[in-house]
Amino acid sequence: MIMVRGKEEDFGAMDQQRYDEMLSGLELAKIECVCSSRGMKVHGYYERSIHSSEGETKLRVMRLKCPCCGRTHAVLPSVLVPYQQLCVRDQHQMVIAYEKGESPENVCTPEAAFDENNVRSVIRRYKKFWRAKIRQLGEDFHTDLCGLLDLCRMMFSAQFMQIRDAGCVIFT
Ligand SMILES: [Zn+2]
Repeated sequence: MIMVRGKEEDFGAMDQQRYDEMLSGLELAKIECVCSSRGMKVHGYYERSIHSSEGETKLRVMRLKCPCCGRTHAVLPSVLVPYQQLCVRDQHQMVIAYEKGESPENVCTPEAAFDENNVRSVIRRYKKFWRAKIRQLGEDFHTDLCGLLDLCRMMFSAQFMQIRDAGCVIFT
C-alpha cells in the first residue's frame, strides 16, 4: 500500500478526477517499496468505493508492482484509511463529537454514505485501538487533522484509525 499525501489542507471528498490528477503528479521511479528498492511499474487498476459525508464515490485505483520483491501496492490518497471505506476526515469528525460528549451520530447528514451503525463501529474501533494512543500523544487533536495525521505517521507508522498493518509507505 502506498499512501500519497496530497495537499493536506484539502480533505474534500476524493473523486476520479482528483485522484487521476494526484497520479499524474507522481514520480513512480521515486517511490520506494517496503523492501527498499525502487522502480515500481503499473500493475493494473481495481475499483474501490469511498463513503463520505458527501455520498458514495467509486474510484479506479492504480496498483503498482515492485520489480524486486514482486509485492503489489495500491496507491491511495491520504484522505482514505487503508482497508476502510470511510474517509479519515469523517471518522475524525465522529471521534471529535464523541470526545466532546456530543452524539457522534449527528455527523450523519442526509447526503452521507454512512449511517448510525457505521458511526458506532467507528467509535468502537477508536476506543479499542486509538483512544489510548491519542492520549499518549497528549495532543489537542480536536481541531487539527493534518497535525494529527503527521503525528500518527511519525509515532505509529499508520494512518489515523487504521487497524490493519498495510505495509504502508507514505509518499509525499
Ligand atoms: Zn519490493
